[in-house]
Amino acid sequence: MTEKDRKNRKDREALTPATKAARAGIAQDPVFGAVMPPLYQSTNYEFRQYGVVPRYDYARGGNPTNTLVAEAIAAMEGADVAGGAGAIMTASGMAALDLVFNVLDKDDLLLAPHDCYGGTYRLIRAKRDKGHYKADFIDQTSKSALDAAFAKKPKLVLVETPSNPLMRLTDIADIVARAKACGALVVVDNTFMSPILQSPIALGADFVVHSTTKYMNGHSDVVGGCVVSTTAELQEHMRWWCNCIGYNAAAHESHMLLRGVRTLGVRIMHQQKSAQKIAAFLQGHDAVSHVYYPGLETHPDYALMQRQQKGPGAMLSFELAGGEQAVEAFVKALDIFTLAESLGGFESLVCHPATMTHRAMGPEALAEAGVSRGLLRISAGLEDVDDLLQALGIALDAV
Ligand SMILES: *Cc1c(COP(=O)(O)O)cnc(C)c1O
Repeated sequence: MTEKDRKNRKDREALTPATKAARAGIAQDPVFGAVMPPLYQSTNYEFRQYGVVPRYDYARGGNPTNTLVAEAIAAMEGADVAGGAGAIMTASGMAALDLVFNVLDKDDLLLAPHDCYGGTYRLIRAKRDKGHYKADFIDQTSKSALDAAFAKKPKLVLVETPSNPLMRLTDIADIVARAKACGALVVVDNTFMSPILQSPIALGADFVVHSTTKYMNGHSDVVGGCVVSTTAELQEHMRWWCNCIGYNAAAHESHMLLRGVRTLGVRIMHQQKSAQKIAAFLQGHDAVSHVYYPGLETHPDYALMQRQQKGPGAMLSFELAGGEQAVEAFVKALDIFTLAESLGGFESLVCHPATMTHRAMGPEALAEAGVSRGLLRISAGLEDVDDLLQALGIALDAV
């Protein structure tokens, strides 16, 4: 079947996210028949007919390159694009979250996980303290905390699963059921899983956000984000605020992102396979006291992982038995892995949350969140897994 023959919408919707990513915008250039979609860098567009506003007029309000990658990601997440659902590409993951929070009025309550991404925590606290909305941070894995929080009738619930850096899972379907019962909207930050491994919309979420900086782009050379909305009304609301403030990604970044998204399926599946092997290897080593990875049968949320995710993902963390002293020796001796923040790129990274990504939390909050000074996080990359295991083995022997 050729691209043009694939007219049946149901046929298209049934394609897997990996196929949708590979086929987005291919061979649709009406001018030259370019197989790769061109990059529209123009800031403005001609009014070809007096008094008739064209689809694109000024690029703060949108451009064809952003639309292309937005529709691809919305389709990959399972949003009803033909029915008016869609996505907005933003300049960062933080901009995507802030865009969604525009659904809140000053008396509306936002429920966020107490162990959410540090930048998200900072954003919500800062805007709450300025009176933009109300917000509570709760342990979303605790039934009693959820009961108490939902009794306050929130307007929006933010879910981030798996959590960072301890890979705790939150039951999306349970949160959605609670939210529907009180008329709240649910937004899922799907950055750690990508649409290949987790489908929040199929579980009833109203919005999905990504830091596309991570797995979606996968090459550690674009900062970006997106908001996928599940209805035409929510999509219009997001589009209005995006145009009003200018949250949007630059066209060039969207062009780069589409190039990255093309290979998301093979990247994350390969990275996941390596992460599983790394987790098993670390679990069997004497210098390691604990491994946090949802793909291990010993993980407390293993059953939920199997139900909710298509795989455990490519992020894991582990505790060195020798504590912080061992950490320093370990990272000094560790080859291949780069000591850096961020995640989801093709290059393997190791991160020490207590002194890097989570340092702003301070010792007390770190202890409360269960982030010890001996904890390290790994983002498994695309290097040969035997090379990665060998490097880890040598570093562990050095502690
Ligand atoms: C990185 C990240 C963000 C923020 O995204 P930026 O692109 O850095 O602004 C939000 N949520 C999660 C889970 C992230 O990992």
